[in-house]
Amino acid sequence: MTMIARLLCAVLLTTLGCAGVSKAQTEKRPPNLIVILVDDMGYADVGFNGCRDIPTPHIDSIAEQGVRFTSGYVTYAVCGPSRAGLITGRYQDRFGFSRNPTIDPSNPNAGVPLSEKNIAELLKPTGYRSMAVGKWHLGTHPTLRPLVRGFDEFFGFLSGGHDYRPEKLTLEDLSQVKHKWDWYRTKLLHNNERIVIDEYLTDELSNAAVDFIDRQGDKPFFLYLAYNAPHTPLQATPKYLARFDHIADKKRKTYAAMVSAVDDGVGRVLAKLNEKGFDEHTIVFFLSDNGGATNNASRNAPLRGAKGSPFEGGVRVPFAVRWTGTYPAGKTYDHPVSALDIAGTIVAEADAPIAPDKPLDGVNLTPYLTDKKTGPPHERLFWRFYDKNTLFVREGGDKLIHERNDDEAQLYDLARDIGENTNRAAANPDRTAELKRHLAAWAEQLEAPAFPGLGSWKP
Ligand code: CA
Repeated sequence: MTMIARLLCAVLLTTLGCAGVSKAQTEKRPPNLIVILVDDMGYADVGFNGCRDIPTPHIDSIAEQGVRFTSGYVTYAVCGPSRAGLITGRYQDRFGFSRNPTIDPSNPNAGVPLSEKNIAELLKPTGYRSMAVGKWHLGTHPTLRPLVRGFDEFFGFLSGGHDYRPEKLTLEDLSQVKHKWDWYRTKLLHNNERIVIDEYLTDELSNAAVDFIDRQGDKPFFLYLAYNAPHTPLQATPKYLARFDHIADKKRKTYAAMVSAVDDGVGRVLAKLNEKGFDEHTIVFFLSDNGGATNNASRNAPLRGAKGSPFEGGVRVPFAVRWTGTYPAGKTYDHPVSALDIAGTIVAEADAPIAPDKPLDGVNLTPYLTDKKTGPPHERLFWRFYDKNTLFVREGGDKLIHERNDDEAQLYDLARDIGENTNRAAANPDRTAELKRHLAAWAEQLEAPAFPGLGSWKP
């Protein structure tokens, strides 16, 4: 409708009504949000980042129909804290989520505290319906689980990893865990009910996601689809393994099959969106929760390091977004962006209220991706690895890693040295000191860890 027609309509509305213009057409509909989060996938293990031995056509289609981030970061190099940052849009060390939490279901502090809001909680007042599918890892205590943290539905498991074979999932709940890692074998939760599944876990998660989308209509929705693949244990089915006869290495072959199962699921999710007519109403993010791990045959090349590392291989991940009709197609975006920006984007697009004392660290990416704003979305991005006494920062092309007992620190020029081979700190003392000051000022804002780590629980 043109501006003149809108004005005319506004005048006519007061006397005659304005036939043919529905409320939906005159109001901006907030977009749906789908976050497809994979686990421990390497930077180099998607086609859009150059992977050759594992086809990922459906994941690649998100980048082809949208935007590929070459410097897309998560806020931590292992699962739990990274997810806490993503789901709240705030640096997780602001609320003590500084390590992988204990699985102990009796600890009400081992997760995202009730003083923080996650994306589902932020969107709820604006009428969103939300579902979490897959790995939670944001608290196992009854006050920290998805259904009491803004999500209307949950299909998945609470801990940080899971066995993929349905016949192995025999424990009723965490009370039956007697040994470390036994929590990988709990029955899945469908809302509050423990259920028996029939299919390979990745396929079950895809089924639940597709079913949720299929049941949506005019109300906006948020789907948090957190595959645990391709995190260990390395387990795949003959259907997926059969696609990789060209890979001789058994670990890499199984990893490839696990990634391929995720890619099939992404394809089914995108097909359902299209079938429902939701393409133009839905922002779809794809990313990994941290870099590829050393134990799952993933690849982060040309990045240095892997899961757990402050080098780029720990925190720079495969990352893409699609919003059909709003974001350009086939765009490559090189300024650093963060998983924090997922919350920043949807909160802005949904016009969701934010508590003044809990400002988001994430920003709305839409003006940057549509060229309304130029320049980097973030002046700086920061990281803290509390248990390793390590801080690091990226500003422009520079990255400073400061292990706090080390006066020298490490300064890398990522624009020329993506592999972080040449430490330029000694040759650039002023720049090194400047970035150290920024790190120290940021670290002043952070809390101490609020809970013990994953290895602490003795069932
Ligand atoms: Ca992970």
